[in-house]
Amino acid sequence: MSKIETIGIVGAGQMGSGIAHVSALAGFNVLLYDVSAASVEKGIATISGNMARQVGSGKLEESTRKDAMAHISAAATMADLAAADLVVEAATEDETVKRKIFAQLCPLLNPEAILATNTSSISITRLASQTDRPERFIGIHFMNPVPVMKLVELVRGIATEDATFESAKAYVTRLDKAITVSEDFPAFIVNRILLPMINEAIYTLYEGVGTVDAIDTAMKLGANHPMGPLQLADFIGLDTCLSIMQVLHEGLSDSKYRPCPLLVKYVEAGWLGRKTGRGFYDYRGEHPVPTR
Ligand code: NAD
Repeated sequence: MSKIETIGIVGAGQMGSGIAHVSALAGFNVLLYDVSAASVEKGIATISGNMARQVGSGKLEESTRKDAMAHISAAATMADLAAADLVVEAATEDETVKRKIFAQLCPLLNPEAILATNTSSISITRLASQTDRPERFIGIHFMNPVPVMKLVELVRGIATEDATFESAKAYVTRLDKAITVSEDFPAFIVNRILLPMINEAIYTLYEGVGTVDAIDTAMKLGANHPMGPLQLADFIGLDTCLSIMQVLHEGLSDSKYRPCPLLVKYVEAGWLGRKTGRGFYDYRGEHPVPTR
């Protein structure tokens, strides 16, 4: 089992910055990289704001926040991740993007370094096979928002060695997260169940069964969900939701997973949910307002 002290993170969006947040708080050194330098800057500012909120609510000492922030460095280039013992890829949910990242990243890494992906749905075995280290490749699937959600799914590819699994388990345990182990099938456990529910909520809207408000209220008060499914879709990101449905549809060849055309339309419009200011709700005003 390899000793992990330095974590490289590729992708500084919602998930990458969350993973950096919890890793730094657990005392790991964190190198945060994104293809867009502005995203790294924004990611670090988000982490700082979120930690300040934790201090404000008494969950964190100010000295711990300072210490954790000092553990995070912006990586200007991918080559800066060479010092990492574990790299967690948390870039856009698109297999072509992820493959390109691994092709560029692998030659820069220590041969012993472990490579993990935070993919929500894509085959770990297939992604691993494109790298120079399928035996040191694993799925570490965090939930959003990372600092709040307790669960992490660990997913072995067909070639993942036990030592890699044990190292990943030790890393996640040090983050004080709970682990479930999923086999490597499309969308693993959580999203295999969650995304068809969200997609069905979008069909319910598409077919005019209910309005955005009616659907979300129905599931919050009628099924005791903390968030309505359309609110949750906006929170996840509609591009990510669509990608996961496409992976389920293609990977399981079952028409019950076909993505709702209305979800496709929102993504085509660039209305990706909270992260772009509009999705099933418009977040640009003081309060979210349904967009239909
Ligand atoms: P996001 O859109 O917030 O962030 C993606 C980031 O990846 C962006 O900052 C983008 O600039 C960066 N990126 C794109 N191409 C890149 C490249 N070639 N090199 C480096 N960086 C690149 O998306 P997110 O919600 O953070 O999702 C990231 C990953 O985490 C996806 O695989 C997604 O499926 C997974 N995930 C998402 C959620 C969720 O609820 N959003 C939950 C669990 C896992």
